[in-house]
Amino acid sequence: MTRIAAIPGTELAVFMTGVDSSPREVPPEALFLSQVHGAVILDPPEPSAPADGMILPRNGTLFPGVLTADCLPVFAVWDGMVGCAHAGWRGLAAGVLDALLEAGGGPPRTVVLGPCICGECYTVGENVRSMVSETIGPGKTGRLPGRLDLKEAVASYFTDREKVFTIDICTLCGAGFHSHRRNGTTLRNRFWLAPKALGHDITPSVPVKPYDHFTFEGSPA
Ligand SMILES: [Zn+2]
Repeated sequence: MTRIAAIPGTELAVFMTGVDSSPREVPPEALFLSQVHGAVILDPPEPSAPADGMILPRNGTLFPGVLTADCLPVFAVWDGMVGCAHAGWRGLAAGVLDALLEAGGGPPRTVVLGPCICGECYTVGENVRSMVSETIGPGKTGRLPGRLDLKEAVASYFTDREKVFTIDICTLCGAGFHSHRRNGTTLRNRFWLAPKALGHDITPSVPVKPYDHFTFEGSPA
């Protein structure tokens, strides 16, 4: 089953496949890279090139895609371009967000954070938190000790918080997606961006919410 999350203010959607999906659900126009947990963003991309993100024309026929099994897929929309980044702790520490903004020519208009392991599930060593902090700044790795909140780290990186949206699903404690932390899987969730203009039905099946610093991580309402 392909899940669909419409991006506010656009005619674009994030498409998602996970544990209950078949490869046939992924259109050939969705480009996926050989992700290496680094900070290279390709413009233009080549399929299967070693890199962790790409920039493409917004009105083109190819779409940016990200493979994950707990890492955070980040999608960015500029006026004339779309892009993505595969953001785990190694990529964040390596500067993948700086690379995405540089490749896009500045801050995007809208950012969407896809499903990833949440800030309660993602236990990490203090060395991991400090390596991420060194790149993105202190106090941005989440509120729980011994955990890393990837979405908080990425949302904090963008100074205009109001343009950051989230698909609030945890790959580990939620349902529907592969999680390496859950069972060591080598299978990957596939996320890609596609426009209504090319005939894709972007009727949403999954909500997209403004990122909220205070209520994310599944804390009781
Ligand atoms: Zn979780």
